[in-house]
Amino acid sequence: MTKKPLTWCVQCNVLALFSHLDQAPEYHAEGGQWKVVERDDQVAFMHAHRGHHLEELYPIEGSFISSQDYAEPTKVSYFEVTNGRQRFVVKKVRKSVLDTQRYELIPGKLRLIPSEPSIDCPALQEELTREFARHMSSAKIDRFVQDLAEAVSCLNPRKLKRAPFESHNPSTWYFILDQRILGRILRSSSPSFTEREVKLLQEFFRRNYGDPGFMATAKVAFQIEKVGDDEKTQVSPA
Ligand SMILES: [Zn+2]
Repeated sequence: MTKKPLTWCVQCNVLALFSHLDQAPEYHAEGGQWKVVERDDQVAFMHAHRGHHLEELYPIEGSFISSQDYAEPTKVSYFEVTNGRQRFVVKKVRKSVLDTQRYELIPGKLRLIPSEPSIDCPALQEELTREFARHMSSAKIDRFVQDLAEAVSCLNPRKLKRAPFESHNPSTWYFILDQRILGRILRSSSPSFTEREVKLLQEFFRRNYGDPGFMATAKVAFQIEKVGDDEKTQVSPA
């Protein structure tokens, strides 16, 4: 997501985000020949809103949300911006690949609501069985995965460390299960493990630290709250 500010004409309530592509010429076929048409959206915008009150709105990091994948070219997404004094929600829409991005300012606050974290139990079970079949019984592995899933679901997603990468979809968050969390889970929920088995499992997670397949995930719902009001606008996935 871009860190460039959006330009907001307060008077007309129109938003625009300028990039170097705005100065790119357009090519039109005319009588069997290509004709180059020079264009500059930024100059056109500044001309249309000459003398109006313009403000720069900077995107707030970590606020971007959409129910559709990042790679999806036509989607609806939301993020928060600030002019340094107030926060606003921006709705970004692109209806077709031929269409340009459109931005709309929505008064209010974007609230992201992560679900309880979960792990991919079958994948973890399969991998642990493959690695540790010689060291511990499958019953112990199954028990550990169940205990881990249960313990992870009780963790507060807002306090967990987010993975240092983005998932393919903004509404899926990945969390790192660090050694402190794993150690606590191993000690409290699986007392039947020997010290060696605990070490093997800890080592497994240390080795697979950056692997999304062994991280906890949460699905993120979102809604727009009107500031100073309890009324909420439920935003349903498109
Ligand atoms: Zn204007």
